[in-house]
Amino acid sequence: MQETNSPRLTFHGGVGEVTGANFLLEYRHLRVLIDCGLFQGAENERQNRAPFGYDPASIDCLLVTHAHLDHIGRIPKLVREGFRGVIYSTAETKKISEIMLADALHLLVTGAEKVGVYPLYGESDVAKTFALWKTVSYGAKISFSKDLEVAVRDAGHVLGSSMFEFVVGRRGETMRVLFTGDLGNTNSTLQNKIAPPGGIHYLVIESVYGDRNHESREEREEKFLTVVREAIERGGTLLIPAFSLERTQTILHKLNHLVEEKQIPSIPVFLDSPLAIKITRIYESISSLYSAEIRQEMAAGDDVFRFPKLKETARVAESQNIISVPNPKIIIAGSGMSTGGRVVEHEKHLLPDPKTTVLLLGYQAPGTLGRRIQDGVREVKIDDAIVRVRARVEIIEGYSAHMDSEHLIEFAESSKGTLRKVFVVMGEPKSSFFLAQRVRDYSGISATVPERGRSYPLF
Ligand SMILES: [Zn+2]
Repeated sequence: MQETNSPRLTFHGGVGEVTGANFLLEYRHLRVLIDCGLFQGAENERQNRAPFGYDPASIDCLLVTHAHLDHIGRIPKLVREGFRGVIYSTAETKKISEIMLADALHLLVTGAEKVGVYPLYGESDVAKTFALWKTVSYGAKISFSKDLEVAVRDAGHVLGSSMFEFVVGRRGETMRVLFTGDLGNTNSTLQNKIAPPGGIHYLVIESVYGDRNHESREEREEKFLTVVREAIERGGTLLIPAFSLERTQTILHKLNHLVEEKQIPSIPVFLDSPLAIKITRIYESISSLYSAEIRQEMAAGDDVFRFPKLKETARVAESQNIISVPNPKIIIAGSGMSTGGRVVEHEKHLLPDPKTTVLLLGYQAPGTLGRRIQDGVREVKIDDAIVRVRARVEIIEGYSAHMDSEHLIEFAESSKGTLRKVFVVMGEPKSSFFLAQRVRDYSGISATVPERGRSYPLF
């Protein structure tokens, strides 16, 4: 294998699009991958099946920023195709990844059977993946050689999420290269607000919300309360399509407060997602990593994700019974972009009812049912049925798990004196280009949206 004397960075996914994060850092004989995510969305099956842009067997190590599928979903494929290095993440990311990949495997297998192709990977590949997986804590350093090490830092995005900060080169001539993974919303209830790092030379930064700002925390809380109260007054169902990781727990925590403080009447709330139920158990088993606010509540003995009238419906029969429970009621169900999962079944029944409120709380990717509902389409196709949308649709972006534009800019600017280049990744083109241009024009820092498959020498 060819050695590279200056560090080199290649972007194998997650450029000009939100999903498929996969970055390769090479230095001398070492090859380190950062994330190995699934390309998500209807047209991405082909991309997921395409060979990697490198030989998986030649990779020494894989660092995993967090357990969302667009960061972990192709790891078993990497293992199937020869990767035998070490995988590192926090313990929480590993635990949640076990649940996420088991769930993804089920969907991949049933999806592949439907169209008569082999699934992307099998159960044994997932088992082999976890045999290679080691855990590290925030603040830990992994040393690959005397001139390449990486520090693990909290990214504030979801439970266990990390940034990876590399120190490359020998004493006196070192460079700091930071991969943000996904960065947390500075208004996150559950996760810590992270401080922009400073002193970075090369920054690989996400840009899901590169061109948009969120509502303030006060605004979003007020809006949420209004939406819930109005939905109850109209006597229908409030349907919240929610991502199983972080968003669901944030909303459970919020509803817990509203019920305990009697700001809303106590009505039935269904957590209708086996995946979200399992992940909520992991959230409940951790008490140390959260924001000070949550740690205090937990220490005071509050079950922050539970309240009377919350019912978890893990079994299919229980889920099917929800429809017969009289309104008003609240259903929290996955998937967050209505690309599958139980929420789609509920949408089929509930979208035509003008008493229904659909509350969208996060990014809806182009081409998804969630995006069409967000765009105000009056008719959608679900399975083979045409479904009229008469439901009220509400959108609150402030509960996003992602950092918004102004804070991403602030994050990059914190290293203004040292930054040589910012690589803007993991966003739709308009978000990534906006952020790159904004950082270039206002801060005078070199910033680019890298090209897929191209290598960039670092110094
Ligand atoms: Zn994420």
